[in-house]
Amino acid sequence: MGNDGIQRSMGRFHLVKRCLWTTTITTLFHPLAIPEAHAFQGPYHEEVTKKATAYFEFGSETAKAVITGNLNADAKPSEPLIGEGEWFKPEAHFDNETFSDGSARIRAKFDSAVANIVAGNKDLAIEDIGRALHAIQDFMSHSNFVVNSPNDAIDLFNLTDPTSADRAKGVDCNTGKGPLSTGYWYYTDLEIAQTLAKKVTRPSNRCMHDKLHKDKPDCPAGAALHEVAKKRAVDFSIDFIQRIKTKLDKLHPGKGLFDVLVKDGDRCKAVFLAHPELALKKKLVPRPAINWGNGKAFFFNGDKYTRYDIAKGAPDPGYPKSIDAQTWPGLWTSGIDAALKWSSDTAYFFKGNQYIRYRIKPDVVIDKSHPFPGFPKTIDEKSWPGLWGASGIDASVEWGPSGGALGILTNKAYIFNGNEYVRYSVLTGKAETTHKVVTAQSWNGLCANGIDGAVNWGNGKVYLFKGNYYFRFDVKKDKVDPGYPQPVNSSTWPGL
Ligand SMILES: [Zn+2]
Repeated sequence: MGNDGIQRSMGRFHLVKRCLWTTTITTLFHPLAIPEAHAFQGPYHEEVTKKATAYFEFGSETAKAVITGNLNADAKPSEPLIGEGEWFKPEAHFDNETFSDGSARIRAKFDSAVANIVAGNKDLAIEDIGRALHAIQDFMSHSNFVVNSPNDAIDLFNLTDPTSADRAKGVDCNTGKGPLSTGYWYYTDLEIAQTLAKKVTRPSNRCMHDKLHKDKPDCPAGAALHEVAKKRAVDFSIDFIQRIKTKLDKLHPGKGLFDVLVKDGDRCKAVFLAHPELALKKKLVPRPAINWGNGKAFFFNGDKYTRYDIAKGAPDPGYPKSIDAQTWPGLWTSGIDAALKWSSDTAYFFKGNQYIRYRIKPDVVIDKSHPFPGFPKTIDEKSWPGLWGASGIDASVEWGPSGGALGILTNKAYIFNGNEYVRYSVLTGKAETTHKVVTAQSWNGLCANGIDGAVNWGNGKVYLFKGNYYFRFDVKKDKVDPGYPQPVNSSTWPGL
């Protein structure tokens, strides 16, 4: 939230500054000033980009960000929030016949966009795409391509500078006819520009930008050619985005990375698309976990368990160990579904339609507590009113900021089965809710159709596991922390 506010106000400042700059330059250098448009003017870049992103059903926020990235290419070096403004870079606008450099820049933006999407840097990827589209659109406006070959294909990724034979031929600056060329820019006339841009000398048989461009309807080329340039700019913008999509599908088939790039507003949908296993309804491997209340947590897996040091965020040496009569007397030796800390001295373990009430004696021997007598018992309406009876449970977790780690009786627990959950009262020993469905709404950003395991870390955070991913839930804020899910791997959960 805080960051958003800063970004918005900087955005406003950014716009004001840009206007001031334009005014200052015009006043100082008029009538030798820089022509007012260096490109398709803002509204046309916006119109073309909107059409191209709409073709791929970009979300409105994402589309807006692509347009911002696009217009950043026409900004002064210090202006944009991301990267540098490229007003003085001919290759960012295909000015001065910089075909080879312009193509190299498009290829670089393409590679960078793909790498950023794969790395999860959506904002940077959008900026790359916006800037590449800017050059593609400028090519159609600044070159004589649509004059000579309005319907042809051209590979903007692999243009080369004019050959000497082409250089020898002239370009007719009234009609634009002649070898492929782009307009030259008046950098040479401006001291300020000379310090910032490569000095360029226009060959006598080449045209000024002012003569050749189709940036706006009242350009020398005429409104009709302006429309053709826009149309082709849309085509080639779509082609660029399609290439990104194709590349992502090829690199990571089935990951839906392009959809993650495009979507906004419905984060869960994007998360599902990126990690399809989070949406699976079928039961995954259970991941029972419990905070024992003494600075240690236990994770069970098959017939093994691992003791985790909560402060270190790492397993204790010598684990995993076997679940046996020595380590966990009276407990099942494999296949536990869920574990639940009930109070400072009581825990429950669940397996199938049965449960065991276990005495926690953290002060005596960490791994050698004992079950209460008479267990296991059956999970039914009498023992656990309001649960799912014989169909058992998938996961359970004690609730509250301390998670019982301070020895305080937590008075709520959440218990999960399939895509449903129930809130349980420790004080009354009864369900407080009916069977509710786990959704991103009911669990504020938990984009998973049910979970396999959960553990209250005792520091205000609860970890919720689904398949090979986990979410961190902030108890006080009552929502999933930003940036989750994350994969469960050797750096996030060493030893699991
Ligand atoms: Zn431009």
